[in-house]
Amino acid sequence: DAANESKQIAKCFDKDLGFKHARRLDITRKLIYALESRQFELYFQPQYGIHHKKMTGVEILVRWCVDGAFISPSEFIPIAEQNGLILPLGSWILKSACQQAANWQNNLPQNAKIAVNISARQFLQPGFCDEVERALYDSGLAPERLTLEITEGVIMQNKDLGIKVLQKLKSIGIDVAIDDFGTGFSSLAYLKQVPIDKLKVDLSFIRNMQNNKDDQAIVITVCQLAKNLNLTLIAEGVESKEQLKMLETFGCDEIQGYWYSKPLSQADFEAFVHAAQYSLD
Ligand code: C2E
Ligand code: MG
Ligand code: MG
Ligand code: MG
Repeated sequence: DAANESKQIAKCFDKDLGFKHARRLDITRKLIYALESRQFELYFQPQYGIHHKKMTGVEILVRWCVDGAFISPSEFIPIAEQNGLILPLGSWILKSACQQAANWQNNLPQNAKIAVNISARQFLQPGFCDEVERALYDSGLAPERLTLEITEGVIMQNKDLGIKVLQKLKSIGIDVAIDDFGTGFSSLAYLKQVPIDKLKVDLSFIRNMQNNKDDQAIVITVCQLAKNLNLTLIAEGVESKEQLKMLETFGCDEIQGYWYSKPLSQADFEAFVHAAQYSLD
């Protein structure tokens, strides 16, 4: 009967929650150890300018290898956000990314920027701007070479503080991009209040763009929106030439995705940049 059935469902649900809880605890325990023993590595995914057909930047994506297996950042970053370990981890990522980019300064294509993902907790932490300034100062990286990627949710969590932080970053000369644009539940009104430079249209809209009229309509609209607000638009998750061509006709500025390159290890990224600089197209 119905009551019995719902009991069964509740039981399964409990069991599932139990597993999730255990996994979460296990990851937390391993994260603490990983931070001490430096198990993290930075990966680099190049970004491509549609108009000038050149590399325009590179997104830093953290990788964590435990006992020979990768744990996805989509799994461990939200856990690190919740337990606060994102603060030391995020500091390490920011410092290391700036250091790496400064080492490359003259080997990267001219004006190429590095983009670092910043989680809500980090962004809204007192002293965050000082930390960014220190990372730039210590590494010698010019602020114009740094982009920070945040999601809409970060601003929605604390709009007043968020805007203050954005204004400070702007005054330092750093660009800010809204990541996963279109997936949050915020109104568009915030866009005219926040000093940002770039929108990153989420890969979920790009994935089926060729076959899905609704996704296509959304992407076209976001391209128009970016243009009218004078923001640079980058599409993430571009995997095919057809998607690239479509985005070009929509007026999108940049793309990132497997079509151009997967996220690469440092050595592979250096080889990629070298090859790109000496290619003849
Ligand atoms: P994100 O910032 O939106 O990064 C884009 C994700 O899409 C990356 O997944 C990237 O590997 C993946 N991707 C890139 N091109 C393609 C493509 O053509 N097709 C498909 N299917 N996927 C593509 P990744 O590296 O697993 O990272 C997932 C998320 O974890 C990131 O989403 C970001 O929210 C978070 N994350 C990653 N690294 C960091 C970090 O250093 N700090 C923080 N706070 N979050 C990070
Ligand atoms: Mg990102
Ligand atoms: Mg994204
Ligand atoms: Mg994402």
